[in-house]
Amino acid sequence: MENLKILFTEEQIQTRIKEIADEINQLYKDEEIIAICVLKGAVLFAVDLVKHLKMPLKMEFIRLSSYGHGTTSSGKVHAVDISLPDLNDKNVLIIEDIVDTGLTAKFLLDFINGNFKTKSTKFCSLLDKKISRATDVEPDYYGFEVDDKFLVGYGLDDEGYCRNLKYIGYKN
Ligand code: 5GP
Repeated sequence: MENLKILFTEEQIQTRIKEIADEINQLYKDEEIIAICVLKGAVLFAVDLVKHLKMPLKMEFIRLSSYGHGTTSSGKVHAVDISLPDLNDKNVLIIEDIVDTGLTAKFLLDFINGNFKTKSTKFCSLLDKKISRATDVEPDYYGFEVDDKFLVGYGLDDEGYCRNLKYIGYKN
């Protein structure tokens, strides 16, 4: 991709993921968890993160969208596919790519807490764009705090492209 300025290299991302995984391993010890990957953006992060998790784990995938075709949040969260198993009494770990306004995270947490009585619910995001927050939602774990730039790569797309990049960058 031309004119992309690298913000986090592959090595920085992978190192940080191992650190987050260590924290999550310490929290749950050997307790079983259900890891919910929020498609499409979190797929690369979720796949790399779960490889370092040591507890018994099941993966679920849901698909939400909020950005539509632009580079700023539409302000509305659309549940494309949110079919989930019974999460009552389960340890739930939500895995997201980025928390921006926080609307997606709030939508998801409200959905899970409104439909299930989980044993625990934790929210893990690779990136945290705290400066853009429009809700009071904070991730329990995050990899990097980022500025208000439109980021691409490592799952984050630009009109569907760039998700496959091993690094995260922004257009210069
Ligand atoms: P929120 O609901 O917190 O405003 O936004 C969450 C979703 O918006 C993320 O899961 C991601 O899909 C998208 N998003 C937020 N910031 C960015 C960004 O900088 N780049 C890209 N490609 N997507 C973003």
